[in-house]
Amino acid sequence: MVDLKAAIKAAKFVTFLTGAGVSTASGIPDYRSKNGLYANQQDPEYLLSTENLQRHPADFYQFVKSSMYYPQAKPNAIHEKMAAISNEKGAIVTQNVDGLHRAAGAKNVVEFHGNLYHIYCQKCHETFTYQQYLKSDQHAADGGILRPDIVLYGEALPEQAISQAITAVGQADLIVICGTSFRVAPFSLLVNYAQPGAQVIAVNEEKLDLPFAFEMVQADALDVFQQL
Ligand SMILES: [Zn+2]
Repeated sequence: MVDLKAAIKAAKFVTFLTGAGVSTASGIPDYRSKNGLYANQQDPEYLLSTENLQRHPADFYQFVKSSMYYPQAKPNAIHEKMAAISNEKGAIVTQNVDGLHRAAGAKNVVEFHGNLYHIYCQKCHETFTYQQYLKSDQHAADGGILRPDIVLYGEALPEQAISQAITAVGQADLIVICGTSFRVAPFSLLVNYAQPGAQVIAVNEEKLDLPFAFEMVQADALDVFQQL
């Protein structure tokens, strides 16, 4: 098995591409997985769609409020090690909306799908705390509906996140995929922007089948990162 520690030590710039699996050890369910956040929901993609937010804001709010927020969750060893490595020589691009990479102190983070804890009014774009949002989704001053700044189904990714992610991937001589099956586009397409010859290592408990050259560390990510 490839030596991740040695690869990170040898690399000039390490970009981590992360998904829900890095946050499960912090108590946040891996959505899309069988026992995950969406398992008991009728149509999670609809519940988290822009159409639902616009047509049925109360349903949207109820789902998000009851299922998405884990404000007590703390970064785990994966977040902490990635923060230390990326602050020294690298970047993190994450699909996660939980904010835990930043909470671990990581400075060079691209939140590809946004951040649940950033709230704004759709009418006036004033920002709010998530605590305010969990009390009410109404902006009393103008009647606007609040929403989290995450990318919903049916919405385009912000251009800034795309360009920052492409830059982060293009800078790397080592790319580490962790906590994601790496099947959901456009996130999975980011690897197309890697330098020729960049090393790609995937850390995952289940063996991944990816359409490009990579090396597999088949193990529990928490164990792997605790030993780095
Ligand atoms: Zn407003």
